[in-house]
Amino acid sequence: MAVKGLDIFKLTPKKNCKECGFPTCMAFSMKVAAGAAEIDKCPYITDEAKAQLSEATAPPMKTIKIGTGDTECALGGETVLFRHEKTYVNKALFAVEFSDADSDDEIAKKVAHLEAVKYDRIGELMCVEVASVRYAADKAKFLDLIAKVIELGRVPMAVVEDVEVAKEAAEAIKAAKGILMGATPANADAMVEVAKAADVVLGVSAGSIEELHDTVEKIEAAGYKNLVLNVGDSSVKEAYNNAVTIRTNTLKGDDRTFGYPSVVFVNKIACCEQMEVALASAFVLRYGSIIVMSDMDFKQALPLFGLRQNIFTDPQKPMRVEPTIYEFNKADDNAPVLVTVDFALSYFVVSGEIERSKVPAYLAIPDAGGYSVLTAWAAGKFGASVISDFIKESGIADKTKCRKLILPGKVAVLQGDVAEALPDWEVIVGPTEAMQIPKFLRDLMGI
Ligand code: SF4
Repeated sequence: MAVKGLDIFKLTPKKNCKECGFPTCMAFSMKVAAGAAEIDKCPYITDEAKAQLSEATAPPMKTIKIGTGDTECALGGETVLFRHEKTYVNKALFAVEFSDADSDDEIAKKVAHLEAVKYDRIGELMCVEVASVRYAADKAKFLDLIAKVIELGRVPMAVVEDVEVAKEAAEAIKAAKGILMGATPANADAMVEVAKAADVVLGVSAGSIEELHDTVEKIEAAGYKNLVLNVGDSSVKEAYNNAVTIRTNTLKGDDRTFGYPSVVFVNKIACCEQMEVALASAFVLRYGSIIVMSDMDFKQALPLFGLRQNIFTDPQKPMRVEPTIYEFNKADDNAPVLVTVDFALSYFVVSGEIERSKVPAYLAIPDAGGYSVLTAWAAGKFGASVISDFIKESGIADKTKCRKLILPGKVAVLQGDVAEALPDWEVIVGPTEAMQIPKFLRDLMGI
């Protein structure tokens, strides 16, 4: 809930000394309330007042960190219910679940998928970030599996309600900053102590959303707020309703008890592999912070990775690459120059096809506002003067003696004007589809 300037003013020392950079304590308070100044700028604010304010101004949903080094990720911290309102902050993570009840063949298959499924799209290397390890009965195998998934570079999530086994699991995951998915209404007191001792994120599960609320309150009262919430796994309807209720209450209500990231065990509520993908898609949209699948091969991963990337980008910021000259396939002074826009998807599709052609080439990317080719052209950001000015100013004429300049086929209409502005260049209309680039380049260069 937003804090009013007057509430902040009541906590200032009212010296009007200007040391904070503002003429009066009231002016300073108004700026802090508007988010334009930090409360720390006043050297006379007491620690007690600071603590009071930081609680009141804290975001409604906590950001929870898991993993270390390359595996470090943030969960939660969301401020809006819908992406179009502003943006989502921390992307949903995917997990695959192992269990000591799995056969060696099943484990080997999941491990092979975990290692193989990596996908580079628009500059983001995507993979399954978390490995959930569920305790069934074989403690030694359970702990071995935790060690194995850590070795594979995944954030471990130990799913275990037995407090004695949980103690060993917490020790096993603590260096990797994993999650102990173990607290329930029945064991919450003991499990909080286990999580506190290992300083790991504690997952909370309950039989109903009311019970979940009471258990989180109890855990918070015991002084632990490093939590994630299991939305429930008795049915699709329950899990979905709970995920939406938890997020809506957090962001729209006054009760912050549910202000934590969520975990959805899709593997427990889906009837088949296809349904797992369908449900995982639904929970990427509404509101899974970690989505647990029973396995993840390429055919399951690619649509989910693509959906997630689209949802967890800022709709107000076009995805762009730096406007400059890029070199491919050891481009030399005989290499032609292709042109496209700085929209990231256009760049990565075109650059992939140039690489596939194996023809040495340069790719010129002027500042086109981060739009696709036709949108940038229609908006006046990818016209003949933008292209010709960039070619003149980029220094590409010094890098190659070849004077072939290839425009995207979709803006063939620009050919005449670009040719007029660049008389030393042979301006050629390229393919309309990126997939045609390899053949086009090989034919053009006689390779
Ligand atoms: Fe008031 Fe503190 Fe600013 Fe001085 S530094 S004017 S006491 S808010």
